[in-house]
Amino acid sequence: MKKVPDYFGSMVFDDRVMKAKLPAKVYASLKKTIDEGATLDSGVANEVADAMKDWAVENGATHFTHWFQPLTGITAEKHDSFITPSLDGGVIMEFSGKELIKGEPDASSFPSGGLRATFEARGYTAWDPTSYAFIKGKTLCIPTAFCSYSGQALDKKTPLLRSMEALNRQALRVLRLFGNKKAKYVHSSVGPEQEYFLITKEMYDARPDLRFTGRTLFGAKPPKGQEMDDHYFGVIKPRVAAYMEELNEELWKLGILAKTEHNEVAPAQHELAPIYTTTNIATDHNQLTMEIMQKVAAKHGLVCLLHEKPFAGVNGSGKHNNWSISTDEGQNLLSPGDTPYENAQFLLFLCAVIKAVDDYQDLLRISVATAGNDHRLGANEAPPAVVSIFLGDELDGVLKAIETDTPYEGIEKKQMKLGVDVLPKFNRDTTDRNRTSPFAFTGNKFEFRMLGSSNSIACANIMLNSAVAESLKIYADRLEKSTDFETDLHNMIKKTIKDHKRIIFNGNGYDDAWIKEATKTRGLLNYRTTADCMPHLLDKKNVDMLTSHKVFSVSELQSRCEIMLENYCKSVTIEANTMVDMAKTQIAPAIEAFTAYIAKNTAAKKAVIADITCKYETDLISKLSDITDKIAIYADELNDTIVTLGEAKGIIEESEIIRDCVLPKMCELRLAADTAETLTAKSYWPYPSYADILFSVK
Ligand code: ADP
Ligand code: MG
Repeated sequence: MKKVPDYFGSMVFDDRVMKAKLPAKVYASLKKTIDEGATLDSGVANEVADAMKDWAVENGATHFTHWFQPLTGITAEKHDSFITPSLDGGVIMEFSGKELIKGEPDASSFPSGGLRATFEARGYTAWDPTSYAFIKGKTLCIPTAFCSYSGQALDKKTPLLRSMEALNRQALRVLRLFGNKKAKYVHSSVGPEQEYFLITKEMYDARPDLRFTGRTLFGAKPPKGQEMDDHYFGVIKPRVAAYMEELNEELWKLGILAKTEHNEVAPAQHELAPIYTTTNIATDHNQLTMEIMQKVAAKHGLVCLLHEKPFAGVNGSGKHNNWSISTDEGQNLLSPGDTPYENAQFLLFLCAVIKAVDDYQDLLRISVATAGNDHRLGANEAPPAVVSIFLGDELDGVLKAIETDTPYEGIEKKQMKLGVDVLPKFNRDTTDRNRTSPFAFTGNKFEFRMLGSSNSIACANIMLNSAVAESLKIYADRLEKSTDFETDLHNMIKKTIKDHKRIIFNGNGYDDAWIKEATKTRGLLNYRTTADCMPHLLDKKNVDMLTSHKVFSVSELQSRCEIMLENYCKSVTIEANTMVDMAKTQIAPAIEAFTAYIAKNTAAKKAVIADITCKYETDLISKLSDITDKIAIYADELNDTIVTLGEAKGIIEESEIIRDCVLPKMCELRLAADTAETLTAKSYWPYPSYADILFSVK
């Protein structure tokens, strides 16, 4: 059997391959580009392309593609083969530096939110040398950014790279103020924990709602769900274990650091967590992970559901974005240090995050907003739609002491002398792990838990990096002019705590009382739906911040707002149409058939005994008949509501109709149909039940 270290990364053109295949000078030049963002020498590109092609062909590749992340949220690829005709009638395998660096896919069918007029259909893709090329199937995939010809980003990678650069710029300024002259760059790292459901292909195929929308739109509560808490960390079933084994192998070949796997809270729900890496690479890897999860499932006769809420009444799936910032020398800037000076630096970075999260709560909420995730946030299983930070008692104590100029008595009862030059020394908080907080400090990183399982992590990290860059910029602007660094530093930390302590909450985020306190007393934002939050992307403060750090241009923001709202409206409209179709063509006829069967039996019974009451049958027929009427009416009403969407003036109004009219009508129709399911003989019901699906994998 092959050992993992022998095949780990075998399908990746990584540093080991580059070193082995490239001339020393070319390697050094490419490495400088990768590590420090230096512009790539054009002569170098040809040599890299050639080596890349030789390596890919050796490993069975016949094609190459620029692999990119358009605003559809998934990845895109267009394959070109390496073949070039040779004079003797045969072919040779060729790949030039030009082809490596730039591609020109027809961009007209990707969403652009009005950024690219149709006459200017061509966009271009540009190689991102900071993320390694890899082979998928028989294709060499080159990670690229995707832009319009006028230079506007049409993808998720471009603004992510820009946000990492913004964070780097501002964090370095702050580090210099603390006397760090050596660090060359600062980057953010992410370890995304990915949740998913695994069901059998037979169950999936039998449900039009799952096939068309990724979630069940109907389905009565099963007799057993997650009440017994017997699935979380439970023994992994053989079929699931076989799936996980192959998944790990495929991910490892692609250099993805798949590390932890376990069963999650809901039946049929699981989680996979990789070891963290640079945000840009973590994002590419997470997109690949989601793709490969689905591919491997198909090979096992299974389907991997990445929807945030495939089943009502049981937990949905999220993604935990573990985020930290560190220097090229490996210093984690969110790790409390051992000396007062190191602690002062840590506290300033911590404050930068606290300020960022409070100032840009809306951007963080927006970054995870989709129709699917709206079902999760605030549903007593996932963090609420209100953003807050969990720090833990110890760190909270330290901040309170600084804010009030009082001695800090930590958990260890150490007396801390607070003054301008002595900031408290404290231990890393490893004890309390609050699972209900949307944004939790977990010792040396923050865990942002509002992401939906199908979200690209790019969006959340763009906002996080940019907002923290903004706090750091404000700090650096002030401290660079300071004549008394330590006093000003102390005062700035103190001011941040005073101004932003409202965002810190260590209690139970699932509690209704918290939502009330958060919104009424603390004035925190509570955007329940995508329709509520998305237009705020264009609020002046958000546009000013994101454009000043050159993460987005104004028109890029306008287009993204439009595309996200369009996605929201389209997803819900497809769901509504699917419901109408299922209700009319399958559910109502099934209830009718069952009712007819009972009616026939009633008549047959009466033929045998004339004065028999047939109370059971008559009551049931009456109930079923009522419900069928309701289903028919609600389906028609839902249909009418969908038609009114066409009259909306603009996408914001359309999203409001979706939120206020379409979604409530969908709930009404579902409730009626789910009640009917509990009254109809199973053999008549047209779809597998929740119990069938959730316990389908043996
Ligand atoms: P859990 O949250 O389940 O307790 P861990 O804290 O061990 O699990 O790690 C969760 C994820 O956080 C993993 O993907 C891990 O690699 C990642 N992680 C650990 N340290 C860091 C860090 N400094 N920056 C970003 N992610 C990190
Ligand atoms: Mg976690």
